[in-house]
Amino acid sequence: MRKPIIAGNWKMFKTRDEAIEFMYQVSESMPSNQLVDSVICAQAPMMRCLIKRQGQNLRIGAQNLCYEDQGAYTGEISGQLLKSYNVDYVIIGHSERRNIFGETDETVNKKLKAALRNELLPIVCVGEHLEERENNLTNKVLTKQIKGAFADISAIEMENIVLAYEPIWAIGTGKTATAEQAEESCAFIRKLIKEMYGLVVADQIRIQYGGSVKPANIDEIIAKENIDGALIGGASLDPEKFIYMVNAAVKK
Ligand code: PEP
Repeated sequence: MRKPIIAGNWKMFKTRDEAIEFMYQVSESMPSNQLVDSVICAQAPMMRCLIKRQGQNLRIGAQNLCYEDQGAYTGEISGQLLKSYNVDYVIIGHSERRNIFGETDETVNKKLKAALRNELLPIVCVGEHLEERENNLTNKVLTKQIKGAFADISAIEMENIVLAYEPIWAIGTGKTATAEQAEESCAFIRKLIKEMYGLVVADQIRIQYGGSVKPANIDEIIAKENIDGALIGGASLDPEKFIYMVNAAVKK
């Protein structure tokens, strides 16, 4: 049995006051962390005020980290610093980082190692462009991204990693993959992990779907066998929608 995980990716939205208001509105309504892991990944400067207000049932994550732990890397955020603030999770290789800021499978791999070194729980994102899907290249792209991201990562280290399948054409577009498309790709990813790490790791690794998930479609998506949760952008900004979606995961 894999525990579902719902992570909100707030991207570059919300001010400090808006973030605090969100925490105030959701904190009483978060289901037990025995049933679901609920996470909000926010911009780094608001991390401290969110961590002060997090509880066991709602944890805080970052959206990025540097692959080095310290040094002359102006503007970067180290895993060491995140850990010292009690941040639990970090998103790595989000398509916006890959497409806008030039991250590659190689930097994703280095960042993943930095996260593990600093005992952060990584949410590693993979997913194809629309053109790649239309040209039947989805599985090839996923294979390249996963093999690249997990180079030199051991089976033991895989225990603490969450994978997020996020087709790029479905992110922030309102265009959700059908539950069947999402399941098909998540099943493919699990099969690939089995080939790379064996049955035990493949059975325990949690795979989220991300791409325009909202209250209207989460029930159908989360019901799928190989989908263990969701990485949610836009809809996670709204406290009522977030509460609905973490509770939908509990029903899985
Ligand atoms: C995301 O930011 O990872 C995401 C899936 O965004 P949205 O839910 O807005 O499509």
